[in-house]
Amino acid sequence: MKTILFHGPSGSGKDTQVDLLVDKYEFENIGTGEMFRTMYKEADLEAIKAYSYWSKGKFVPNDLVYSMLNRWIEKFDEQYNWAFVSVVREVGQIPMFDRLLKSHNRTLDYFVHFTLSEQAAIERMSLRTVCPYCDTTYHSIYKVEKVKGYCDKCGTKLIQREDDQPEKIKSRLEEYNRTISPILEVYRKRGVLIEIDATPSIEAIHKEVVTKLGL
Ligand SMILES: [Zn+2]
Repeated sequence: MKTILFHGPSGSGKDTQVDLLVDKYEFENIGTGEMFRTMYKEADLEAIKAYSYWSKGKFVPNDLVYSMLNRWIEKFDEQYNWAFVSVVREVGQIPMFDRLLKSHNRTLDYFVHFTLSEQAAIERMSLRTVCPYCDTTYHSIYKVEKVKGYCDKCGTKLIQREDDQPEKIKSRLEEYNRTISPILEVYRKRGVLIEIDATPSIEAIHKEVVTKLGL
């Protein structure tokens, strides 16, 4: 059983890569996004507390995140490989993550970091449009609409999300790099860091992941 932590900026396609591993290599996908949503729906008291932060776009305190994660993890199969996604977002969470793994008799095999240049991030995301009515997304290289500027499904005029504008992408990536670099440093020293360029195609990146993880 392998235990892998995946990280990457938005637009790096890390979720797609983890989904491929789940489909082909018996991985459990363990992330805080689904945890917050599911536990909140279940009216979990800590999730309700966490919601008061995340609904305002604020960081949920480390203790609260890990208290929830320690319970959330119980639902996953111990016999499977575990893929954690973005569960260490700041240095203070590293010892918490270590303890969580130890309590399940696991150690981290690899920290896989998907890297994306500013140019690649902008190229990938600023070419994305979305239908404000049915939420279908389009991309002017990878998924082109039939009538330029209008939704294939419902004919609504497509828009660009505010988050997908180049200036927003740039500042988001800078912020990401600033927060992730001390974390990368820790895992590099431990000798478990693998960096993978997220610019090539989904299939090419998947092949590299499989090779580097020895699957
Ligand atoms: Zn539409």
